[in-house]
Amino acid sequence: MANPVAVIVGAGPAGTRAAEVLVAHGLRPIVLDESPRSGGQIYRRQPASFRRSHTQLYGFEASRAERLHRVFDRFDSAIDHRPGTLAWAITEGQVHTARHEDGVTATVNYDVLFLATGAMDRIIPVPGWTLPGVYTLGAAQVALKYQGCAIGQRCVFMGTGPLLYLVAYQYHKAGAEVAAVLDTSGWASAMRHGAGLLNAPAAMAKGLYYVAALKAAGVPIHKGVLPLEVQGQATVRAVRFSDSGGRERTIECSAVGLGYGLQSETQLADLAGCTFAPDSLSRQWLPQTDGDGLSSVSNVYLCGDGARVRGADYAEAAGALAALSWLQRQGRPINEQALQPLRSKLQRGLRFATALQRVFPVPHHLLSTLPGDTVVCRCENITLDGVCQAPHGPQNNDVNRTKALVRVGMGRCQGRVCGLSAASAMAQRQESSLPLPSLAQRLESIGRIRGQAPVKPLPVAPSGAKAP
Ligand SMILES: Cc1cc2nc3c(=O)[nH]c(=O)nc-3n(C[C@H](O)[C@H](O)[C@H](O)COP(=O)(O)OP(=O)(O)OC[C@H]3O[C@@H](n4cnc5c(N)ncnc54)[C@H](O)[C@@H]3O)c2cc1C
Repeated sequence: MANPVAVIVGAGPAGTRAAEVLVAHGLRPIVLDESPRSGGQIYRRQPASFRRSHTQLYGFEASRAERLHRVFDRFDSAIDHRPGTLAWAITEGQVHTARHEDGVTATVNYDVLFLATGAMDRIIPVPGWTLPGVYTLGAAQVALKYQGCAIGQRCVFMGTGPLLYLVAYQYHKAGAEVAAVLDTSGWASAMRHGAGLLNAPAAMAKGLYYVAALKAAGVPIHKGVLPLEVQGQATVRAVRFSDSGGRERTIECSAVGLGYGLQSETQLADLAGCTFAPDSLSRQWLPQTDGDGLSSVSNVYLCGDGARVRGADYAEAAGALAALSWLQRQGRPINEQALQPLRSKLQRGLRFATALQRVFPVPHHLLSTLPGDTVVCRCENITLDGVCQAPHGPQNNDVNRTKALVRVGMGRCQGRVCGLSAASAMAQRQESSLPLPSLAQRLESIGRIRGQAPVKPLPVAPSGAKAP
């Protein structure tokens, strides 16, 4: 192939490093990202007119953010960069795009595709989670990082995972009142699996620092909680939960940041025809790749958190490795000595990510504690009972069938928000009717909501009209 067209979806750490390698080997990749500027989630850039310093914006990550931005800016003119452009579908050898600004659509042919689409918050419903004033942890962070505003004056952060403490710390540092941090993970999992975090000692030290800073500021931190309800009518008024000793407590607040770790954004990989397999620890179906990121489709590579959540450092390594590996398969000369350190780094990242998931396990058991009228699918307003009372049995043991029957996962989010919870709820319901021993096996039998185009909402406008 003389001049292969390489398309990269995602200009975060993984996409940036993949593009850097391709440019260094004489290619001009097309880099698509729905965000207006490069950087991805962690190194998200502020609007061009904002003047906060890297240190103010990224804290401990300032120098890494600066380095990645500099890399991107250096090769910006050597790539075909299309910011503010959503990749909304993939068909045979083609990516279909729509520009946010004016709704203009395009079809981009590719010879090789690198999907570096990152991750998103994982949500487990709780009564009241659809109230105005409840945000995902990621959205709470985006509000602060991008727009420079807080989600409320007095915030409770609830869920589990490292982002819980990081966002609470960032809010505290920005001057917002953090009323409490409520973590569903208990001390037992931290004691049992904490040593695994030493695979990334710097990341572990940062996590401990955030907790210490919150404690020093007098922010109450409750471990091992059971979330019961977000209270309020027009907006959030309080959070009710049960503490590790089983005592019911209520904390007044004006906003809630909610999240249970991250889940890979895998819809485009699904549309590209990649093979998926269940991952028992994250309880998510993940696209299968070889160690270098090559998927089951011969010209589709998956890298960064979109393939498996490992964090930003490892996403950079994964992007570079995927690009080098593809170049090598093309018979192009590469520095082969660069491959092994990248592979070793990703192995370390996997060990760290595994330890994190054990220290902060996804609390699927919460679904069995929820009242039946709790909304699971907010796009279509489908409750837990609605999911669980769909006709089931040997003929309907599949979450896609339940979707067809009751519309769970059929709305704007296409199941990206509710899909995992719906499948978990089905797995718990089928405990008695299916002769499978573990929840993980039942989840496997239930499957996953398949990716559908458009993977994210598209602007619709009459022909010739300008999209809003
Ligand atoms: C909300 C959120 C907040 C986070 N905050 C932190 C943090 O503060 N500290 C930390 O250490 N880690 C954080 N993480 C994790 C960290 O962001 C990731 O580990 C790291 O950014 C992964 O890099 P990546 O390149 O794989 O993906 P990302 O950095 O997520 O980049 C993916 C890019 O792909 C683009 N994209 C996705 N889908 C499409 C599409 N269909 N069309 C066009 N573009 C698309 C996105 O706009 C994004 O720019 C956060 C993750 C999330 C989801």
